[in-house]
Amino acid sequence: MESALSGSSSVSYSLFSSSSQQPHRSFFKTSHIFEFKLRTRKMEHTHLKLATPVNCSHPGLTQEVEKNKMNVVIETEMRQDLFEEIKHRFLSFKRNTYMKNFEHFQRLSDAQSPKFLVISCADSRVCPSNVLGFQPGEAFLVRNIANLVVPFEKGPSETQAALQFSVNTLEVENIFIIGHSCCGGIRALMSMQDEKPSCFITNWVINGKTAKIRTKAAASNLNFDQQCRHCEKESLDNSLLNLLTYPWIEEKVKKGSLAIHGGYYDFVDGTFEKWTLDYEASCVKEDTRRLAVKNREFWS
Ligand SMILES: [Zn+2]
Repeated sequence: MESALSGSSSVSYSLFSSSSQQPHRSFFKTSHIFEFKLRTRKMEHTHLKLATPVNCSHPGLTQEVEKNKMNVVIETEMRQDLFEEIKHRFLSFKRNTYMKNFEHFQRLSDAQSPKFLVISCADSRVCPSNVLGFQPGEAFLVRNIANLVVPFEKGPSETQAALQFSVNTLEVENIFIIGHSCCGGIRALMSMQDEKPSCFITNWVINGKTAKIRTKAAASNLNFDQQCRHCEKESLDNSLLNLLTYPWIEEKVKKGSLAIHGGYYDFVDGTFEKWTLDYEASCVKEDTRRLAVKNREFWS
């Protein structure tokens, strides 16, 4: 234990000493919070790696320390660059969008009246504002892994809170659930072996179990990737039907003051498919559960 501790202090000293061998002067910038965090993390990492007794004067270890120093410099500068980039994007947004539409943003400070509730996957590649151009004030947006809507009786979730607020308070006229190609959440669902959730992710995606069962029944002859693609759409349809289990949603859909739409964004092909739930021809009851759609469009 003693040697492990002394080993780590030796490395820590070496990491932060002002050796002439420092590869880059920016290593000594000390004011940046991220740099500090990175240094701390790196030091902890090094400590873990040296948890067994080692000879600290070993040349291999010196090389390892130098390599770590380089990694710290590179990671720190990359993170600083990221925030520089984000700062420029914000300033560009302020100059080109916010200032040019100042009155619109002032009106938004009083209230919002979006026409859409959009439910999409949290995946970084499929941001609806980016892909479909939703502007500030146009869409109330909730994102979760695999764009799932659980049935009413499943109890509270952040998606259900967004449903209640947007439908009953904001009175949106459209709920738009958007699925996508290469969905990691659906892949996780399809990869589960025994249907027993073992972590937060599987505990969430198991909510799409019905879609998985239907996929296995309808597409067992397809390879795994094709089955995942099938399940992405099956799960989407399942979520569309689940919306009708919410009494206050069904009531509005029945009256015609609220419409339910599905969308599938394929970012591999660069296409978008959109459809609308046909309430009269759909049924959410367990034994006769079926989704009917209308106004299907394919954008390519
Ligand atoms: Zn996804």
